[in-house]
Amino acid sequence: MSVEPAAGPRPAPGHTTVPTTGPTTGPTRVLYVAGTGRSGSTVLANLLGGVDGWVSVGEMRFVWERGLLQDRLCGCGAAFSACPWWGEVLDLALGPGTGAQRRALAERMHAELTARTRLRTLPTHVVHQRARVSLRPDGELEHLTGRLYAAAAAVAGASVVVDSSKLPTYAAVLDALEDVEPRVVHLVRDPRAAAYSWTRVRAQPDLGAGALMERRGAWKSAALWLLWNRGMETLVPAGSARYVRLTYEDLLAQPREQLDRVLRTLGLDGGDLGALLPEPGVARLGVHHTVAGNPARMRSGLVPLTLDDEWRRSMPQGQQRAVTALTRGTLRRYGYRLRPGAPGR
Ligand SMILES: [Zn+2]
Repeated sequence: MSVEPAAGPRPAPGHTTVPTTGPTTGPTRVLYVAGTGRSGSTVLANLLGGVDGWVSVGEMRFVWERGLLQDRLCGCGAAFSACPWWGEVLDLALGPGTGAQRRALAERMHAELTARTRLRTLPTHVVHQRARVSLRPDGELEHLTGRLYAAAAAVAGASVVVDSSKLPTYAAVLDALEDVEPRVVHLVRDPRAAAYSWTRVRAQPDLGAGALMERRGAWKSAALWLLWNRGMETLVPAGSARYVRLTYEDLLAQPREQLDRVLRTLGLDGGDLGALLPEPGVARLGVHHTVAGNPARMRSGLVPLTLDDEWRRSMPQGQQRAVTALTRGTLRRYGYRLRPGAPGR
């Protein structure tokens, strides 16, 4: 897989011409982690990024906003603008340009991406996906998105780029790209656990000292859990060989078996996972240059893989009942018990 450096200079703000590009050799394999927030996607992406010869980039959909515009922390601990790995990826994908030109491009891409990935656009994506047509096959967003994945793969020397963007509509954008070959691992977590996690106060170090992660009420969390999970399912053709579903609870109970199953189902060769999972319940994680995501993305070294089920002991009963009632049908279909006090998931 290779990507030739983009030709410069970058177009002026408002200019929509796509820059001249060199040839690439085949589409970039992207393993997309779909699901809802607080579902363990950071844990899964950290593991997948540790597969030999793969690279995890975090939530690529935020590269424009939280990377280029807000200059939040990369997973390596450096500010995004100071991370040499991303510097190399951006130079290769976007070509030379001044800070102001890059910023103007990022503002334009962020605005377009936001408009194109609103949840209300999901039905349109489904229609286009089933008709196998792209919304804008020659658009600048498509072009640069494809180049970003190719550049990440080239700089890392990776055969697979892991993207934990989660959002179903962004998966649809990727699916329409000619130079990206996406596969989807759809991660599901008990919606009561996710809802409880959204209510907890947690630090968000990539926003600075004292910053906190976004919080969300149980009802809103449950509604979005339904929308995002069912939305992802509607985008996948029945029997697709490029889609597999995995629960957070199964992943933590049997990491090696579940990762093996995911890779085998998707036709991906992950090699020997022994170095990544050296003993039961422990992962050996490297440093990943991830843009956006849970603070856990910054952990490296030997990391325990521990199921977070504090919600069973600490979540108010009323909230548990409300989330269960709203998500009931899908909850059961994913194999969860309606009575959370019952053993198992
Ligand atoms: Zn970095």
